[in-house]
Amino acid sequence: MIKPDSASFRDLRDFLDTIPIIDSHEHYVLGPRRPKDRDPVADAIASYYISDLLSVDPAAAREVPGILGDASQGIGRRRAALDRVLSAAGHTAYAHAVRRGLSLCWGIGDLSAESLERYGGLLADAPDTLFEDTMARFRIRAMVVNIYLDQVFRDVVEGRNRSYPAMCRMAFPLPSFHNIHNPDSLGFLAGAMPERTLDAFLGAFRGFFDAARRAGIVCLKDQSAYFRSLAYRAWNRESADAAFAAAMTGPIPWEQATILSDFLFYEFLGMARDAGLPVQLHTGHLAGIRNEISKANAVHLIPTLEAFPDTGFALMHGNWPYMDEYLFLGKNHPNAFLDLCWVQGIDPIYSIELMKRAVVAVPRNKVFAFGGDTDFVEQTVGFLELAKDNVAFALSDLVDNRWLSPSEARQVACDWFHNNPNEFFRLGYDRVDA
Ligand SMILES: [Zn+2]
Repeated sequence: MIKPDSASFRDLRDFLDTIPIIDSHEHYVLGPRRPKDRDPVADAIASYYISDLLSVDPAAAREVPGILGDASQGIGRRRAALDRVLSAAGHTAYAHAVRRGLSLCWGIGDLSAESLERYGGLLADAPDTLFEDTMARFRIRAMVVNIYLDQVFRDVVEGRNRSYPAMCRMAFPLPSFHNIHNPDSLGFLAGAMPERTLDAFLGAFRGFFDAARRAGIVCLKDQSAYFRSLAYRAWNRESADAAFAAAMTGPIPWEQATILSDFLFYEFLGMARDAGLPVQLHTGHLAGIRNEISKANAVHLIPTLEAFPDTGFALMHGNWPYMDEYLFLGKNHPNAFLDLCWVQGIDPIYSIELMKRAVVAVPRNKVFAFGGDTDFVEQTVGFLELAKDNVAFALSDLVDNRWLSPSEARQVACDWFHNNPNEFFRLGYDRVDA
């Protein structure tokens, strides 16, 4: 399937290093300048690779968090304690991306104790411009940033946190605002509510949403599939009022909290529609272990796609492992877009297959090729390089099969890596043509 020495692959892969990239999804909740005293062992495998280590076996699931969390043990001893799981999970795409990112950013090619010691020293001495320098070096022109910690996002909106450069375009984090099950879950909006009613809550949300719009958000983002089904339903106002009133007296049952979540989510999507903002939704695989996947299948979103036909929805992460449903959604729903953030690094072979099928089954404006979905530059770079490889494998295979000409393949790549997210998020850059 994969022919890294083929001329068409090499030509396309080289071309991908020349085009500007729009990164559809990152987190960077610690800010673009990460604190200098970070633990190199934990940082090296943060975000995603740790999931593979935890899933090695039940003993690993029990022991790895303690090993990672105990920085007092020293790098060498912790590295030795991780040896078994690093070896077992050494060939996954996450492992490849980690090694590649460390190699490209720091010249570190492995996760030996000596390399991790060196990484810690490099992190401590990292220049303040590391983020900007790395983005420029890899031609990442803009990234959509999802600060999922509400207070950090609030600090950005209200001007107390100015650490994010202009290339970081903000997504509004929705999950906690519709996960209302007791008075405490109102969060900081409680302070803007003259009374504890659903109307007052919606008014407080509207005030914060409008402030976020003035601060330049480019979309709304929701990853509630981690803890609830994507099968949202339309409820009447009376059901929601009753659920909200009950929640203000104490914890409400899951079923009632879901009614309120459904109602509020659709209220917020209505605000997004009226503001002309697109929406990013987590679909498919869930970071960590032992989650329940069927609730996160994007196919549950069909009623939502139909309820908001003029709102663009970026269905994130390739809906892994539900490829068929995902392709159907992109083909069948004009407002469903296929955002391959993260999935390029979850499963490259799935992604290559998905992209080949997307070329032949889905309009080419529907696909976004890259979002790292990470917190640190090493990870962004590692996953970007994987995504470029995957796109080059997929499109060069179609060139070799005479489905695309070489110039058509280059244009598809420009659209997927730049033009489509640029238009979807209305970022305002000029188109890039091959
Ligand atoms: Zn994410």
